[in-house]
Amino acid sequence: MKSYSLIAPGKINLYLEIIGDRADGFHELVMILQTIELADTIDLKPNDTQEITLHCNHPQVPRDETNLAYRAAKLMCKSFADAYANFGGVDITIAKNLPVAAGLAGGSANAAAVLVGMDLMWNLGLTQPELQDLAAKIGSDVPFCISGGTAIATGRGEKLDLITNLDNLWVVLAKYKNISVSTPWAYQTYRKNYRNSYVSDVKGIISRSDRVRSGDLMNAIIKQEGNKIGELLYNDLEKVVLPEYPKVAELRDMFAEAGVLGTMMSGSGPTVFALCENEEQAKDVMSRVRNNIADAELELWITKLGSSGIQLRDGK
Ligand code: ATP
Repeated sequence: MKSYSLIAPGKINLYLEIIGDRADGFHELVMILQTIELADTIDLKPNDTQEITLHCNHPQVPRDETNLAYRAAKLMCKSFADAYANFGGVDITIAKNLPVAAGLAGGSANAAAVLVGMDLMWNLGLTQPELQDLAAKIGSDVPFCISGGTAIATGRGEKLDLITNLDNLWVVLAKYKNISVSTPWAYQTYRKNYRNSYVSDVKGIISRSDRVRSGDLMNAIIKQEGNKIGELLYNDLEKVVLPEYPKVAELRDMFAEAGVLGTMMSGSGPTVFALCENEEQAKDVMSRVRNNIADAELELWITKLGSSGIQLRDGK
């Protein structure tokens, strides 16, 4: 049986609106998700035992059963017991390039890569919708990580409709190594502060997501209008995260002053991204921020918007 090497790109949120509570304890969301080219690499090797092993070069990433990549392999073994019995377990090696706990869906992308890779390794021939159904069992962002590109996501984030790919813009990402934001904390705090504005009836939920579907940001994406997209970026979680983490707010202000197309916190943060017209602008903005903030904890990356989710490395 063959080994596989996969590319697992991260994502940013161009839009994140919290509509209300769901019976399952999650939030009802409407988001516009966008793949970035910055990616982890996942190597999968069949091991002829019944074990799943996991290696990762990043100290913050768990190496036990809580790792989302491990959970994805376990789900494949459970869902395809015959293939597991015939072919055995898998050695998973994660090379982390995406910052961890950063709002870029790194763990979700790793899980998506394991689902896609094990489908290939075991020659199961699963369709993308079948892979995405499995993905939704692991986490809300995992189905998007499989297909990637630009998509509107509703429900808890797992219901996807692809939009025209928006891959012509560049991005600067900024994150302090010593700041991490707990996603559950961000959503719980939002609930505490904004529950009064929650919509609970089905009609209201549908009309909120329809407003986004036919709204100005979607229009700007379809027309590939970088300036407008930059102006219309939106994230409800900024309302709770920025006041609590002034250094994250400062990054956002600094990007705005640098004259980028637009800037926003991604997901529950603390990564802040700046949309740029081209690579030259991205490099200029990155060096300006680096010069203005003399803090060794600040990490910056340049990447491009991407048009696809999990891919095979070197087409192999
Ligand atoms: P999201 O945008 O989906 O909320 P995130 O980018 O904020 O995700 P991750 O990088 O996925 O966050 O990490 C969140 C937590 O998940 C980490 O603190 C880590 O303990 C755990 N985790 C589990 N599996 C992984 C993985 N494969 N890579 C990174 N973190 C993982």
